[in-house]
Amino acid sequence: MSDYSFFDAVQMSFDKAAKYTKWDPGVLEQIKQCNAVYRMHFPVKIGDKIEVIKAYRVQHSHHKLPCKGGIRYATSVNLDEVMALAALMTFKCAIVNVPFGGAKGGISIDPRKYSAYDLEKITRRYTSELIKKNFIGPGLDVPAPDYGSGEREMAWIVDTYTSMRPGEIDGLGCVTGKPVTQGGVRGRKEATGLGVFYGLREILNMEDLTAKVGLTTGVEGKRVVVQGLGNVGYHSAKFFQDAGAIVVGLAEYEGSIWSDQGLDVDAVVAHRKATGSILNFPGANNFAVNTEALEMDCDVLIPAALENVINAENAPRIKAKIIGEAANGPLTPEADEILTKNGRLVVPDMYLNAGGVTVSYFEWLKNLSHVRYGRMEKRFTENQNTQILGQIENLTGKKADNKVRETIMHGPDEVDIVRSGLEETMITATREIVEAWKNNPEVPDMRTAAYLVAINKVATSYAELGIFP
Ligand code: GLU
Repeated sequence: MSDYSFFDAVQMSFDKAAKYTKWDPGVLEQIKQCNAVYRMHFPVKIGDKIEVIKAYRVQHSHHKLPCKGGIRYATSVNLDEVMALAALMTFKCAIVNVPFGGAKGGISIDPRKYSAYDLEKITRRYTSELIKKNFIGPGLDVPAPDYGSGEREMAWIVDTYTSMRPGEIDGLGCVTGKPVTQGGVRGRKEATGLGVFYGLREILNMEDLTAKVGLTTGVEGKRVVVQGLGNVGYHSAKFFQDAGAIVVGLAEYEGSIWSDQGLDVDAVVAHRKATGSILNFPGANNFAVNTEALEMDCDVLIPAALENVINAENAPRIKAKIIGEAANGPLTPEADEILTKNGRLVVPDMYLNAGGVTVSYFEWLKNLSHVRYGRMEKRFTENQNTQILGQIENLTGKKADNKVRETIMHGPDEVDIVRSGLEETMITATREIVEAWKNNPEVPDMRTAAYLVAINKVATSYAELGIFP
C-alpha cells in the first residue's frame, strides 16, 4: 500500500502541473484546499434499532457557485475520499466549461444492506442536514448521483428540499440526475458513459496520438475491456459496441469474463441479472480473479468502478495501449508513472468522465428556465426542413426515400439537444487538453496537461472575481 491518501494523490497531481504555471503560490494554495467541510452524524431508526449514520459534504471550491458533485453511498466512504473527489469535481467542471465549483458528498453505508424504505429515511435525513447548514440549494450546492446512488435517491432529495423550501421558484434545481418525471433531463442517465465514448473516440481519431501507442485510428474493430458494469461502465461498453468496437473483456467484483469474438453487453447484463454473476456467460472464458481481465492484451482499457484499481503492483502487467479513466481516480500516481514509462496513453478521469456533470449542468439550466429543451424550436425546424426538402424535390424532380426524409425533417427533441451539447463539450475539451500538451512539450502526460488547463481556468476566474490582484 502507498503511504499517501487519495486526497494526497490529487494534490500530488496538482503540484506536478502547477510547476508549469506562473501563478502566485498563494493562488495555487487557495485552489488546492477544500473551502468547506461538513461532517455529520445523525440517527435513523432501522427496524427497532437506532443507527448512527456518518456522512459528509465537502465543497472544494467556491470560485463559482453553485458547487456541484455527486453523493456516494458506500461503506468505504471517508473524509479523505470525499475531499479528493470534491477536488476532482472542481477541475472537471473547469475543463468542460461548466460554471460550478467542485463538491462531493458521501454516506458511509452499504446501500445493498438496507431496504428501499430505510434508504429513503437515510437520504431524506441527510438532505435535511444539508438544508440546515445551507449546504444544498440551486444557487449554493447541487448534488447528483455517484457510486451507489441514482435517480431514486435524487427524487427523494428534491422532494425533501422542495417540501422544506415551499415557493422557491427554482427549487427543482437543488439536485440533478433526477427522474425525468421529477424535473430530470432526458439523456442524463447514460451521459457519463456517452461522454467517455465521445472523449475516447476523439483521441482515437488523432493520428499522432494513436500512432505513438501503436494503434490505427478509429473506433471500429478496437478491442475494449471494461471494468465495472454499473451505470458508467455499462453505457461506456454499450456505446463502444454500438460503434463497432469489440468488447473482449468485462470485469465485476465477482470475477471477469473474456471472449475474443466479443461479448454482447446487454446479454451479459441479462445473464448477470438471471444468475447473480457475470461468470459462466455462454461462449466466454471465466477468470477467477476479477482484476485478471484488466491485464489482458487489448487496445482500450476502461476502468469504470472505484479508485486505486491499477496500482504499483499490477501496472507493470497492463498491456492495454490506451487506458480511459471512466471512474474517478482508478490509477494511483505510481501506476500512472509506470504506464506512461511503458508507452501507454492514460486519458485522465477528471475530463473523460465529465459527461455526467456536463449533462447535470444542462438539467440545472432546464430547471432554472422551466422549459423542456426543444419545446420552442422543434416544430419550427420541422416546418422549415419540410419546405427546404420540398424545394429540392421540385428542383431535382426526385423524391427522397422515407428514411432520408425522416432524418432531414426531424426537429430536435430534448435528448438530441442534450447529446449534441455533450458531444461538442467532450470534443472541445479533448482538443483543448491535447493542444495544451503539445504547446508544453515538457509536460510528461495527458493528466498533467488536463490539470494545467484546469488550474489556469480556476485561477483566471479567481482573478476575474477580484479576489487576487
Ligand atoms: N458523480 C458524477 C461525477 O463524479 C456526477 C456529478 C454531477 O453530475 O454533479 O462526475
